[in-house]
Amino acid sequence: MTVQDNPLQNFNISAFQNDLLTWYYTNKRDLPWRQDQDPYKVWVSEIMLQQTKVDTVIPYFNNFIEKFPTVYDLAAAEEQAVLKAWEGLGYYSRARNLQHAVREVVENYGGTVPDDPKQLEGLKGIGSYTKGAILSIAYNQPEPAVDGNVMRVFSRVLNIDDDIALPKTKKLFESVTGEVISHEDPSSFNQAIMDLGATICTPKSPACLVCPVQEHCEAFKLGIEQQLPIKTKAKKNKKMPYAVLLLRNEEGKVAIEQRPEEGLLANLWQFPMVPLQELEMELLENWFYAHYGVRVKLGKKQGEFKHVFSHLTWELGIYPAVLMEQAEQVTSLTFVDEAELGNYPFPVSHQKMMQFL
Ligand code: SF4
Repeated sequence: MTVQDNPLQNFNISAFQNDLLTWYYTNKRDLPWRQDQDPYKVWVSEIMLQQTKVDTVIPYFNNFIEKFPTVYDLAAAEEQAVLKAWEGLGYYSRARNLQHAVREVVENYGGTVPDDPKQLEGLKGIGSYTKGAILSIAYNQPEPAVDGNVMRVFSRVLNIDDDIALPKTKKLFESVTGEVISHEDPSSFNQAIMDLGATICTPKSPACLVCPVQEHCEAFKLGIEQQLPIKTKAKKNKKMPYAVLLLRNEEGKVAIEQRPEEGLLANLWQFPMVPLQELEMELLENWFYAHYGVRVKLGKKQGEFKHVFSHLTWELGIYPAVLMEQAEQVTSLTFVDEAELGNYPFPVSHQKMMQFL
């Protein structure tokens, strides 16, 4: 920290709250999870909004709440049905953790989402941000809810140039937000900061000229709003080449398999994928026999595309293949009719491959 040993020195907290809230009351976004302050809906929306844009989340949220309107419905649902409702949204561990935590709420808290910070924090998938969002938005408690958007806004307003990629910087912003948050209306305060970050104080080109808190903003005064926040670059994204097989048996059924229970896209379904990092294409059929216990014949490549995750990129080549002979041993592949593929939750990259079938 530079001059920010006390970033709130000379900062007029009540005038800031007043300007922000006045703007929010007339400009707040009309979002489906804002129709009531049901803590379960706030929770679902906040989990969906992690890593995902509001416009993308809205139809998913509506569909999810229609399917699982209460904690009891979500707790009782099959995991595959929950993943199906999450299909396309990505970061599927969010859905599994949410259901796991909701089951705990039903078992341990009589179906009421806890309003106690310690109890909330003990639930799977609830970190400091989600905890703060539920407590403030649904229970009107003056708890900070700090994510990247909130850090961006406050780094500019208070001219804080600490690296927001570091965990200790998040702590600093939590402490700052904890002091600035309105005690009269903490629910609106946190949502107002979120809206400001999403619609006005945006990452690349903040609309300072129409900003309701411009008068309080140090970065604007100094003309450095584009230079904040400071964020060190994430690690390099690793490239992972794969051959994806659209494999049919003699009845024309298509081979799919379920991904492992842990890790990336856990428990979702996919067409079989052969890692090509250390494998020559000529050996692919042998590799397939060794791993799946079935002999296949590969056709010519039909297409290719990339799918980028936060830490790695799949480079996917798509190949038609036919089943030649099945070995004795049990294979992990399941053969299904093309029309049945819709019953299984697939990650987006594999949904796109269906056009090649
Ligand atoms: S004045 Fe500009 S930089 Fe400052 S909070 Fe508003 S939009 Fe962000």
